[in-house]
Amino acid sequence: MRRPLVAGNWKMHGTRQSVDALLVALSQQDWPEQVELMIAPPALYIERCREALAAGPIRIGGQSCAHQAEPGALTGEISPAQLRDAGCEYVLVGHSERRTLFGESDEVVKRKFAAALACGLRPVLCVGETQAERDAGETADVIGRQLQVVLDAFGVGGLAQGVLAYEPVWAIGTGLTASPEQAQDVHAMIRARLALLDDEQARMVQIVYGGSVKADNAEALFAMPDIDGGLIGGASLNAEEFGAIARAA
Ligand code: PGA
Repeated sequence: MRRPLVAGNWKMHGTRQSVDALLVALSQQDWPEQVELMIAPPALYIERCREALAAGPIRIGGQSCAHQAEPGALTGEISPAQLRDAGCEYVLVGHSERRTLFGESDEVVKRKFAAALACGLRPVLCVGETQAERDAGETADVIGRQLQVVLDAFGVGGLAQGVLAYEPVWAIGTGLTASPEQAQDVHAMIRARLALLDDEQARMVQIVYGGSVKADNAEALFAMPDIDGGLIGGASLNAEEFGAIARAA
């Protein structure tokens, strides 16, 4: 019923040379038809990626965007309208690295989500708890808070126009993956919360898992009933591995 999404977040990796090599390798992969595919390269390489991948099934996303759609005096920022203009169809919002290292609050994340929707992009809203929050039994509260601002503004229907990514902070870039059961528990908890507000839309929301997804753990994660694909960091920089992860979805 829900189409799986496998998305690659390249973060701040790559040079023109390495990006070109990765694009050649990506174009040689066999991509599964039933899976939605996306990569989020550094903004400087978006055009390059879009041109190289135009004939294939991989769509392009931004890694972040400004909190407003209109042009303005925001030195260093990229607006969601500019991402759309460059050929993006998605944008990540609220990635934990943005929240932690760049101080993005829930309020800012909501404004980015709104601006992305207004520009016709599908925002991929990232939520997740730290290890300390998990240990304190606060996982559901933290994720509830991160979701609430967006739900207040747009309801479950608005969320369903985007994608939700559950990314436990302790699993990002650490090699520590949530077990399929741990991830499924959180995905099911999120969906149950959304269902209290709007059962029909809650069943439509794509919820992907992110945090040290690799070719050898993807299949077990994606087999879980509420895990609708993945947001892949490190492993998306290797075309063979990203291909294998996509084929596991
Ligand atoms: P990782 O990153 O796969 O390298 O853990 C995931 C992410 O940050 O989206």
